[in-house]
Amino acid sequence: MEKSFLPVSFKEGKKYYKNFTGFDVIFVTGDPYYDHPLSGMAIIARLLDKKGYKAGIIAQPLSDEDYKACGAPKYFFCITSGLLDSMLANYTPMLKKRENILVPERALMVYTQKIKQHFKGCMTIIGGVEATIRRFTHFDYRDNKLRRGILNDTKADLLLFGNAERSILTLLERMKQITMGSFEGVKNHLDLGSIDGISFRVKKEDMNQKIRHLPPYEECAADKEKFSLLARTFYLLPDDAFIERCGSGFIQHNRPCHTLAEKEMNYIYNMPFTRKLHPSTKFFEFNQNMVENLESSVVIGRGCWGSCSFCVIPLVQGKEVAKRSKESIVQEIEALYSSGTKKINDLTLPTLNMYGSRCALYRHESKIYSPIIDEPITVYDKKDYCNQECVGCKYRVLSDDLYPLLEEVEKLNQKYAGTSMELRSAIRHDIILGQKNLFRKIMQFVTRLKIAPENLSDTVLKQMNKATASAFKEFLEEYKKVNKE
Ligand code: SF4
Repeated sequence: MEKSFLPVSFKEGKKYYKNFTGFDVIFVTGDPYYDHPLSGMAIIARLLDKKGYKAGIIAQPLSDEDYKACGAPKYFFCITSGLLDSMLANYTPMLKKRENILVPERALMVYTQKIKQHFKGCMTIIGGVEATIRRFTHFDYRDNKLRRGILNDTKADLLLFGNAERSILTLLERMKQITMGSFEGVKNHLDLGSIDGISFRVKKEDMNQKIRHLPPYEECAADKEKFSLLARTFYLLPDDAFIERCGSGFIQHNRPCHTLAEKEMNYIYNMPFTRKLHPSTKFFEFNQNMVENLESSVVIGRGCWGSCSFCVIPLVQGKEVAKRSKESIVQEIEALYSSGTKKINDLTLPTLNMYGSRCALYRHESKIYSPIIDEPITVYDKKDYCNQECVGCKYRVLSDDLYPLLEEVEKLNQKYAGTSMELRSAIRHDIILGQKNLFRKIMQFVTRLKIAPENLSDTVLKQMNKATASAFKEFLEEYKKVNKE
């Protein structure tokens, strides 16, 4: 089947979908429309399309026409600033304004306001990196002060955080059962409290008394200790639900979605992406150069438990590593080789040598229904308290599952003449010291090994929650040995 982009206008919707009278869900993103498994928005949009919903995409809107290109959706607008927080996209760490940036500052606020202006009464949902990392009271680097949770600032109806596949499908399943209207009209029919991975406004009288309250925004703004308590609480209880008061309102943050199961990951990453940039992309050449080397990158999992103090990956992708099966990954690589790709540019995972690893305390099994693969799956919970310092923890189980995968890739490279694969994702140099065979296998696919020691002062490294300088020196010795071999 010829792979094609999802529609980016009402007109294209008519060509792409049968009996088309309008989209069910319209995505608004601050990124170019890159139809690739590296793009969170492209994954969710394609998943909805595969599940029979009519999905339209508005990428990097600038004019009113851009916002209106897809018309009004039956269910909701799904708004994201893209893969980057829009303030980081607009400013350097030294707060120098970047040039030629098409995503506006505070994109979620701008996009949501524009949508509300053009489509009064339409439901708006925010999601993605910016929404996830700003869902609670948070420190804003550009303003050098605390800001309220972003649902307050945007006035969007709902917020989806982290891995949102299950949450958005569950929401749509419930909306299909009711007559859509304004969010206020339908929200009481959606049982929002039972959908993992969403945040929503809740009235005082409707609050679930069992859910822990975080210090309110006003107290955090007045007292740094209160803000530290807030940040520490959700860092130490990453799987919990919380309620946060802001002004006279309350935001309920349900528990995050459980780590995606292998079958779900395989389903998601085997969807028919074109792996291309949409031809209508603004500054096409510039963006094409940016993504050129990503096209043949193959995603093998999500999540990282390194817990570096400055990193948002555990918030956005989770700490428990979700993985695809070896067979699903090999199938994708073989499909790329047989369609003429000569080089796989990466097996993508935030930290390669965490593939297959797990925490032994996630041992409390339960069954939930997966709307991704339409069958029950087993999920795991951890009930024991811990300090969330996974590196060096006795319950963290490392895995060498990447080794047999790399062996399969070697066989494919022999089967398809002239093909090769390079590993560009980083490894954790301190953890790899416990995986010396795997280290040697990884090195066979590396031209430049990526590691992140960040600093050599143990005082600074402690604040970064990174490995010690001595671990780095020990790693260097091992690295030299492998190179000699
Ligand atoms: S028990 Fe250990 S490995 Fe598991 S989450 Fe806590 S710190 Fe991490």
